[in-house]
This record gives sequence, C-alpha cells and structure tokens, in this order.
Amino acid sequence: ILRACNVHKSYGNNEVLKGIDLEIAPSEVVAILGPSGSGKSTFLRCINRLEEINKGFIEVEGEQIGYTLRNGKLLALTNSQVAAQRSKMGMVFQAFNLYPHMTVLQNVIEAPIGVHGVKRAEAVRVATELIAKVGLSDKLNAYPRQLSGGQQQRVAIARALAVQPKILLFDEPTSALDPELVGEVLSTMRDLAKQGLTMVVVTHEIGFAREAADRVVFMDGGHVVEQGTPDQVLSNPQHPRTKAFLGRFL
Ligand code: ATP
Ligand code: MG
Repeated sequence: ILRACNVHKSYGNNEVLKGIDLEIAPSEVVAILGPSGSGKSTFLRCINRLEEINKGFIEVEGEQIGYTLRNGKLLALTNSQVAAQRSKMGMVFQAFNLYPHMTVLQNVIEAPIGVHGVKRAEAVRVATELIAKVGLSDKLNAYPRQLSGGQQQRVAIARALAVQPKILLFDEPTSALDPELVGEVLSTMRDLAKQGLTMVVVTHEIGFAREAADRVVFMDGGHVVEQGTPDQVLSNPQHPRTKAFLGRFL
C-alpha cells in the first residue's frame, strides 16, 4: 500500500534521509525505532508530504506522492491534488494538536465536513462512533483543556480516523504523556492494529513494538539499518547500532 524508494531529504547541507527504502503491505503495522535525530519524523513528514523529498519517490496505493505520470512524464501535482493525496493518510503527532476552541465532537467532524464535503449529520454520526471507539462518549462536548493528555491523544486518533485514511501515521504518540496515561493510548492503538488498519508508528515503546507490530524497522543516521519481525530485531538484533540502541532499554 506504501512504497518508499531511495528517499533522500536534506535541510540545507544537512542530509537527513540518505536513501530510505521501505514497502508496507495493507493491514501491516510497522514500528519505526531509532535514536533522536535519525530522521524518523522527517520520514513520516515526507510520506504525507509535509516535506518535499529531494530524490527517490514515495507511492501510496500505486500513486506517487506529489506527482502524476502523464504521457510518460512526471508532473508536479497542484496543492489541492496534494491535499487530496494527504487526506488518504491520518497523522497523529506527539503534541495532540487539537483545536483548543472546538469541542471533542467539533474537532473530529472538522476535516470530514471541511475537507471532504461530508454532510454534517453523517459526519456527526461517524464521529460519534469513533469517539465511542476510543472510549470518550461522555466527553463529546468537552473542550481539549478539560481532558487529560491521554484523552486528548485519543481524540486526536479519532480525528485522524474520521477521514477514513488508508494509512495512519503516528509520530511518538505517547512520548508527551505522563507515564500513567500511556497505557490507554497504546491500548487504543492495539485495537486499531487488530482491526486491520495499516499503521506506521514511530515510537520508543519497545513493548508496543513487540506486541503490536508486524515488523520493526530500525533507523539510524538517515538509513534503515535493520528490519524484521519484532522478535528478530528486538530479541536478536544483528547490527551493532541496533544492539547499542536497544541496550538502553534493558
Ligand atoms: P526524535 O527521536 O528526536 O524525534 P527524529 O528521528 O524524529 O528524532 P528528525 O526530527 O527527523 O529526527 O530530525 C532529523 C534531523 O533533521 C535532525 O538533525 C534535525 O535537526 C533535522 N531537521 C528536522 N526538521 C528540520 C527542519 N524543519 N529544518 C532543518 N532541519 C531539520
Ligand atoms: Mg521525531
């Protein structure tokens, strides 16, 4: 469903991604681990085209992100076409990024109505279901500031799901949370994984990667250094960088 091929990305002279190759199958849950600065967030931002890449390509459902092939030539897509591609992906960030002046329900129906032209009644119906799914039916009309961090992050997940994304991208969704709130968000994510959603999760939660991921990808210095099943990568890492990184969690 997703294919990244030789993806390079630089900020000025700083080459952050140095040729990333990664394919993700439908319903696959991929955990990306790696030290700070290894390019994990940058890679996610390239996938949903918050950043433009310098070389290589990324395809989602066979469509190249940002470009289209016409008469054998690659043409850059317009902003609205890029927005349409981006809307196939939901993204959940470390900071919850909810709209502070909107209620939980309003946060979740905003994109379906505003971006996708869904009728309000239908958007409310779907949003109410999603909010129930993340366990917050009693908070429909609460404002973000009235919620705990874990609850806010679950709203952010419901909001990402509201546009029926083909792929959900998570960038350290629990790292801004107090430790006692991490579990509820991870358990919501585990439920989604079981339901067959395609998920790419940048995380430092080794336990989550072990239980919920089909595949673990270890990035370092802008490269995919090692990947495999959670058991292969987490219990029996081959690369010295992976061993050194995992050593910190023992
Ligand atoms: P962390 O685990 O700390 O979140 P990361 O693996 O997500 O790290 P990135 O955020 O992708 O790392 O950053 C990789 C490198 O790219 C860093 O050296 C960072 O300084 C640089 N970088 C990221 N975003 C930008 C930007 N907008 N402009 C310039 N440099 C950037
Ligand atoms: Mg990051």
